[in-house]
Amino acid sequence: MIFDILTIFPDFFRSPLREGVLHRGIEAGLISVNPVNLRDFTSDRHRTTDDRPFGGGEGMVMKPEPILRALESLQISPSDAKVILMSPRGRVFDQSIAQELAEQGRLVIICGRYEGIDQRISDHCVDMELSIGDYILSGGEVAALVVMEAVCRLVPGVLGCGDSARNDSFSNGILEHPHYTRPRSFRGWEVPQVLLSGDHAAIAKWRRREALRVTMCRRPDLLERARLDPEDLKLLDELREEKH
Ligand code: SAH
Repeated sequence: MIFDILTIFPDFFRSPLREGVLHRGIEAGLISVNPVNLRDFTSDRHRTTDDRPFGGGEGMVMKPEPILRALESLQISPSDAKVILMSPRGRVFDQSIAQELAEQGRLVIICGRYEGIDQRISDHCVDMELSIGDYILSGGEVAALVVMEAVCRLVPGVLGCGDSARNDSFSNGILEHPHYTRPRSFRGWEVPQVLLSGDHAAIAKWRRREALRVTMCRRPDLLERARLDPEDLKLLDELREEKH
């Protein structure tokens, strides 16, 4: 998977790409991240990437030419890559979009700054606008990192153990069960007995029940869309009884 990130702050990505899962994916040759400095595609002495808005008003707008030139320099055709613009007006990013994007071979991510980018780029060169939530950041770089990190975990082979992504919260429509590690007793706080029992069926059932419980309490909206089997529905009934 190739990520091309169009930004005026390419150095922003240095440290995050040297740590954790992104780093491992790069080292293993499974992903490659190419920060593209938009200033390299300007034609004036000051390497200007922004200008005042037509119609007046506050703030600056990112000029279309450097963005289009940077896109052209990548020589991609619509079939090899999706062009994504990070924007608070986009589709709200979630695990199902991450999954959809992980199936692509190449993602080009445009990071806005200031008031955002000239609308004509969005209208003519962008396949998808993505928001990471209903709040305003100062730039698209953090948002691009969020998307890269979520997508990169789903690229086959990037995670050490395939199962860890499959069980994650959201992957099967609900939140994940709680985790415990050693010591068994810590400051008098005990690990649930069933996890020490060695009874794999009982552990699986407990985990499913706790996943359903936390989802029911914190994110009941997810339960309405989740894929639940008859056993889950039975567990949910029990949990509702317990709650009352
Ligand atoms: N004036 C714009 C906000 C611009 S913020 C508006 O009100 O909609 C500057 C840049 O930060 C945006 O172009 C976008 O690339 C990025 N950005 C800000 N908030 C974001 C969010 N929630 N999700 C994704 N990108 C965001």
